[in-house]
Amino acid sequence: MSTLTQHQTLSTVLNSLAESETLAMTKKARELAAQGHKVISLSVGEPDFKTPTHVMEAAKKAIDEGYHFYSPVAGFADLRAAIADKLKRENNLDVSAENIVVSTGAKQSLANVIEAIVDKGEEVIIFAPYWVSYSEMVKLAEGKSVIISGTIENDFKVTAAELEAAITPKTRAIMFSSPCNPSGSVFTEKELRAIAAVVAKYPNITVIADEIYEYINFEGKNFSIGSIPEIKDQVVTINGFSKGFAMTGWRIGYIAAPKYIAQACEKLQGQVTSGTCSITQRAALAALQGDLSAPEEMKKAYARRRDLVIQLLKDVPGIKINKPAGAFYIFPDVSAYFGKSFNGQIIKTSSELSMYILNNAYVSTVGGDAFASPNNIRISFAASDENITEAIRRIKECLAKLQ
Ligand code: PMP
Ligand code: GLU
Repeated sequence: MSTLTQHQTLSTVLNSLAESETLAMTKKARELAAQGHKVISLSVGEPDFKTPTHVMEAAKKAIDEGYHFYSPVAGFADLRAAIADKLKRENNLDVSAENIVVSTGAKQSLANVIEAIVDKGEEVIIFAPYWVSYSEMVKLAEGKSVIISGTIENDFKVTAAELEAAITPKTRAIMFSSPCNPSGSVFTEKELRAIAAVVAKYPNITVIADEIYEYINFEGKNFSIGSIPEIKDQVVTINGFSKGFAMTGWRIGYIAAPKYIAQACEKLQGQVTSGTCSITQRAALAALQGDLSAPEEMKKAYARRRDLVIQLLKDVPGIKINKPAGAFYIFPDVSAYFGKSFNGQIIKTSSELSMYILNNAYVSTVGGDAFASPNNIRISFAASDENITEAIRRIKECLAKLQ
């Protein structure tokens, strides 16, 4: 009798799933650091600031007040109401608490929505470059990702005409982040209105608008596509606290969705994870009720670092950059280095270049392949000026060794 290999006993969908490249590169960086190398990690997209003090205090208070029990699956009622208020006030969304579902990170929010609405074989149009997990979440739902790509010349932004050309009878959803991870691009109100005009023609299509970087917009206030009345019932807005409030480890995100999608996500979450951490929810409520000076200060720091990283990268030969309008990433085109080699090792892809930089300069970045943009690498500038400066110096030095 033949026995199955361990690989064969995993599900087909799991076998086809890629590991998260952002997390994989960060794991490698941690391993090298544990071996004693002076690694500068610019791979994981994570604020290097502390969570605001009033938010931490609220969590301590919640522990003392006895928030030790299961919370309602969709989140505490007062938190959902406060999120709805925020979205009405700041984003012009026409929502109430029943449209809100709180989850264990925006990552779970996204996974819930895709799982809830995408059937086997249905298409999800994803604007590339895109955050690594989008296509893998679609895969888990047995949907099909249809990738349409922006170019560096167009600030990596897909146009409404390109979107319309990609729509088929099987299209179920459209998905993008703005400000964008990994390009830092921000869709303007005008561009989003043009996209909305296309979407309005297809009432069965849902837009999944990932706005997790909304507070890190260097050019003004973020515009939410869900505020456009003609398509308001077709939009799920994704947001969370990880980026704006420097709360990555607390694990809390949320959706604002048409009621039928919110209810489906609540049902799914009720079977998979239940309500997110009760202490974290109380902390998130304090974040919403407090002033926005902390996100504002962090944004100013990121803007300054963005300018620093641009200035330093301009000095690196063979690299093409654009100016990110938001988030904390820059996504240079490094294809001029493909085909070059060091000690007999030929660099053929952006992932190989990113590994070469990690192993030779001890700076972790993420290859663009994982973001469906094979000519680029992602560099996070959520790091100190000193680390950014040293990292780019090392990258420049190690790229110069390629022949
Ligand atoms: N969307 C985008 C575009 C992101 O970069 C991230 C970063 N992790 C997330 C969603 C998920 O964030 P979290 O789960 O930490 O709330
Ligand atoms: N969103 C961050 C990133 O892109 C965090 C890591 C992850 O969850 O992918 O690096």
